[in-house]
Amino acid sequence: MNPATLERYKKYVIPNYTRYPVCLVRGEGSRIWDDQGRSYLDLFPGWGCGLLGHCPPRIVEAVQKQVATLIHVPNTWHTEPQALLAEALCTRAAFSAQAFFCNSGTEANEAAIKLARLNGKPHGRYKVVTMYNSFHGRTFGSLTATAQPKYHAGCEPLLPGFVYAPFGDVEAVRNVIDGETAAIMLEPIQGEGGINLPPVGYLEALRALCNEHKLLLIFDEVQTGMGRTGTWYAHDHWGVTPDVVTLAKALAGGVAMGGLIARPEVAEKLRPGTHAATFGGNPVSCAAALATIQTIDEEGLLARSLAIGDQFKARFEALKARCSWIKDVRVRGCMIGVELTVDGATVVKGCLERGLLINCTHQTVLRLLPAMNLTDAELEEGCGILEEVLLALDVRV
Ligand SMILES: *Cc1c(COP(=O)(O)O)cnc(C)c1O
Repeated sequence: MNPATLERYKKYVIPNYTRYPVCLVRGEGSRIWDDQGRSYLDLFPGWGCGLLGHCPPRIVEAVQKQVATLIHVPNTWHTEPQALLAEALCTRAAFSAQAFFCNSGTEANEAAIKLARLNGKPHGRYKVVTMYNSFHGRTFGSLTATAQPKYHAGCEPLLPGFVYAPFGDVEAVRNVIDGETAAIMLEPIQGEGGINLPPVGYLEALRALCNEHKLLLIFDEVQTGMGRTGTWYAHDHWGVTPDVVTLAKALAGGVAMGGLIARPEVAEKLRPGTHAATFGGNPVSCAAALATIQTIDEEGLLARSLAIGDQFKARFEALKARCSWIKDVRVRGCMIGVELTVDGATVVKGCLERGLLINCTHQTVLRLLPAMNLTDAELEEGCGILEEVLLALDVRV
């Protein structure tokens, strides 16, 4: 990459990220280019934000139009894009809902945690149950909800009122519920935790527990939402309706945005003065999100997402028979995890050298969050490179 850019980073950017020495300059669909003119196939566009790939034309157009009309007004006023987006999100849910908007995933989860407390307060309830290996964000509420010690280290004391249970274990959740519990919060499919699918009956049993103990069921769909898994909301796969759903990442097709939808009787607890976000629901983000939803609808991408998942699953399952270091293949639509028996970092590096961008999470799980408009040719190309890298892997170490 351009050494001057690298120097500026070294001198002026706080080094809180591990970055590849690559400077990206332009993207189009699932293809992205660096400052040396090299192109890459991106099967992890925007860390899950690029659900339609890079610079999807309708979103570019919608943003260009909106940005030249009205960029930002505070929430003391009404705007048409916010009203339309709230309607689009709520009418796609399997339960009646109202929306709140903010700017990121962690903020969406903070709002959900606040809602759980506001809702539970009159009954002396404030505790939230979350799951080990979850990921909910980096601000203190979401950080405490994230039940992974490595993210807590050095930041203690954390927020009081969180209790943890293993993902997939209903009895463990039942055991930590007491008279002060207000909510159960989880990702229907754990993303950062390794693309962990819920066991059969798990989400249904949590819903029943919530009904029994009058708790809110909060689904963090920041990574799974917006059609990523082949349905608008991942929980639709199991027919389980939560009380609150948080969204971000792909919500506005790559433009920064977060939000939540909640049942009206819960949502009403967010009264004027209880919560706010200055940039929340701004016209530009809302226009981008509306264009995202419209694109997914008009191009039939929910079905495409499922088809992409099926193809990846078939390819990796076939490869598993030839590669003893592939332990498990976990797929739901465009959310793909390949668990290895060895460290995945070398695979990611091998792919990068061959012009393919993927991710590795939890040391051993290769994570792909491809765009739902990935073409068959791109899928073929990506699988080809990954197969080559995986088969050439030296696993003697
Ligand atoms: C990425 C992610 C978050 C945090 O989102 P930010 O926008 O980085 O704050 C929260 N929950 C889940 C499930 C995520 O994948």
